[in-house]
Amino acid sequence: MAFSGSRRGPARLAEGATRASVAAECREAALELMAGIAEGWDKGDLARWLAGPYARATRHCRHGERTVAERADAGAAGGSVSAAAIQALLTSTRGRLLAALEKAALAGGALAFAGEIVERGFVRRAVDADGEDAWLPVDAPRMGLRDRVSALFVADYLNAPEAYAALYVCHRCEEVVFDDDARQLGMCWRHRRASGIEVRAGERDATRAAGDG
Ligand SMILES: [Zn+2]
Repeated sequence: MAFSGSRRGPARLAEGATRASVAAECREAALELMAGIAEGWDKGDLARWLAGPYARATRHCRHGERTVAERADAGAAGGSVSAAAIQALLTSTRGRLLAALEKAALAGGALAFAGEIVERGFVRRAVDADGEDAWLPVDAPRMGLRDRVSALFVADYLNAPEAYAALYVCHRCEEVVFDDDARQLGMCWRHRRASGIEVRAGERDATRAAGDG
């Protein structure tokens, strides 16, 4: 196998994992963090996310031990990062990602930072069992939290670029959604009833199902 000697992640994805399943796990983990921060996540929530959804999404391409991701960002020694520093890190990470995603949404769904993230080795290419290219987010030491979340979005984007045509950041609640109706109406589904815009149940369910992808 051509890439078997490479240290840069697996050449082939493990049985059962596909380009689509990697994309779905990346998006789910990234959106969970974004929504969680908006709800006021703290240090414990971040640790739980890193050990759970994040570890799951990055399990295909993991390198060495993860020194607390946020150490470099917070400029503090591992283990003694203050709750306030983590809070500031979470808030700024979300803010910068929101700005980048909003920019992408305005550009028709093109993630401008995808090239940089691949270039820096935070997302790598592999082949799934069907012979399809799959892009994997990398979990490596010394990556900042923003790099980690960016890598999740970029891996999702490279694996499922068509979905990003429906990317939208709601101006009312700042939720990141993949929903064409939201783009066109200028609000995510949760505000529609309140504003008198009825969405037929069938359409809403279809939208949700697509979003759950
Ligand atoms: Zn909203």
